[in-house]
Amino acid sequence: MPEVYINKKRSHSHDKSSLKLSLKPETTLSLKKSSKDTTNNINLVSRKIAHNILSKKQKLNLKQFEYEVSKLNFCPIGSNANFSGNYDNYLSTTLSHISKMININFDYALEFPSIFENFPKKVIENLSKTNKKILILDLDETLIHADFDEKFLNKKNIKYDAEISFFSEEIISDNGKDEENEPLTDDDSKDLSCTKILNTVGIFLRPGLKKFFEEVSKYFEVGIFTASVPEYADAAINYLDPENKFIKFRLYRNNCVDVKDMLRVKNLKILNIPLEKIILVDNNMYSFAAQLNNGILINSFFNDKNDRELSNVLSYLFNYILPAEDVRKVNEEFFGFKKIVDEMISNEA
Ligand SMILES: [Mg+2]
Repeated sequence: MPEVYINKKRSHSHDKSSLKLSLKPETTLSLKKSSKDTTNNINLVSRKIAHNILSKKQKLNLKQFEYEVSKLNFCPIGSNANFSGNYDNYLSTTLSHISKMININFDYALEFPSIFENFPKKVIENLSKTNKKILILDLDETLIHADFDEKFLNKKNIKYDAEISFFSEEIISDNGKDEENEPLTDDDSKDLSCTKILNTVGIFLRPGLKKFFEEVSKYFEVGIFTASVPEYADAAINYLDPENKFIKFRLYRNNCVDVKDMLRVKNLKILNIPLEKIILVDNNMYSFAAQLNNGILINSFFNDKNDRELSNVLSYLFNYILPAEDVRKVNEEFFGFKKIVDEMISNEA
């Protein structure tokens, strides 16, 4: 008889506000491995070792990075913020945060092999050969909204566009410790075991998504860069693009640079492609804090059937980005994020 776990703590989406993960009891399955099975213990331990084996230079960079981050004194706006009707307020608050982050070296993370995990060298090589511009799309609240609300069980009247299922892995310590909430010591490794849980979540699709994919994939090399974990993100992307026709590459949470709680920066240099060719569409401005002029900020989508943002973005992409020599110049002319940040910095000085 399998044990049943109701996972209410783990965040599969990137947002802390959606920490509560709902499960349908009838589809919840737990495969608890025997604690004698050390396969996953080894994975955990080797991950720890990988993090520990750093060159002196990397250690210095990390220290410098942590020092810069420790100076940030603000609470980031949640990535589920919807700035509809209050765009100026969202923009000025987020940009004032970004002006404090501007001198941080986000490239430090590119020296860690772990940031390239799930991003095969072959994909990077293929990208470098394309003549097309690279269009990177965020997933949550940009293309879809996944309803991780625990009220899922009681939402009988809500009609989701789809339901997706995915396994998540829980590493738990047999001595009762939870890896996420209580740091494990080396001594704990021998007591670890792995539990797999089947999760089901309802999703809403942003209106116009199919047409958007069809159109942009003709002219751009399209990829997804999400701050969510691969288990959930892959299930969502596989649903959106079952034949792998549109999405050429995928980047996940571990490919982001963690700055602080709720704040994960997508350093586009991970693609190793000239930045003049790359665009990131994201509902969270912090995502493109490392390359402000490569970003297109889109309003957060939850479940608004009248939302037309994708068609607006499409028209901007075709009219301004496609003909551009350098997408950063066009973006700066159109949105002026860098200029605003520069002004904020000079006003503070
Ligand atoms: Mg998002």
